[in-house]
Amino acid sequence: MEGKILCDEFPRIFKIAKVQKATVVINHKEDVWGRLNYSGEAFAVKEVRKEIVEAYSSAYVGIKTYMWNNLVPIKANVLVWRAKMGRISTADALQVWRIQINAACKLCGFDLESANHLLVTCMIAKAIWWQIWVWIKVPIPQQLLSVEAVFEYIDTMKIEKGKKKLLNVIGHMVCWSIWIARNDMVFNKKNISWQKIIEDIKETSFLWIKSRSKSSTLEWEEWYSGRIF
Ligand SMILES: [Zn+2]
Repeated sequence: MEGKILCDEFPRIFKIAKVQKATVVINHKEDVWGRLNYSGEAFAVKEVRKEIVEAYSSAYVGIKTYMWNNLVPIKANVLVWRAKMGRISTADALQVWRIQINAACKLCGFDLESANHLLVTCMIAKAIWWQIWVWIKVPIPQQLLSVEAVFEYIDTMKIEKGKKKLLNVIGHMVCWSIWIARNDMVFNKKNISWQKIIEDIKETSFLWIKSRSKSSTLEWEEWYSGRIF
């Protein structure tokens, strides 16, 4: 049996198996449980991430494209990616599923809660973004109506590529902070301090960058003052 592949050795059993993607080989080596990618290479987080992004990209080609930022945690990358497609669990999305819910925005209490409203056009979100633009000393955009438009605005700025990537981190951080604050209000009945959200955005985005960029020489004072941009 050594070195033989079981599906070749027992074809009739293999035929009735529901999952036929696994390959079992018996030999004298140490047991290994792994996952092969499309190219037959062994498991690697980086490869799996690449496959997920490629799969999603190909599924939504022509609708939205998403640039993965490796200085941002996966959870925040996924939030922004989904928000750009209007696929986060805001009230408008839940209504589509006929879930009975108060559809008003949880932050302002007026308009229908959608991804673009909650993260960009809500008066509370606008106030946060306004303070962020002032902090990083970039021109305050006149009218941004969607998450997609915010990231396009950042992407088309005429600044050095490395700094643009840092601005993109801040964009993710703002969306992430608003989303977490909104969930805290809904599920934990917590009151939100908008000044605290701004401070959290400055602090946590700095930590995201420092913990993920091995070569970053970024200094806290420089970052906090916004002088870097
Ligand atoms: Zn609102």
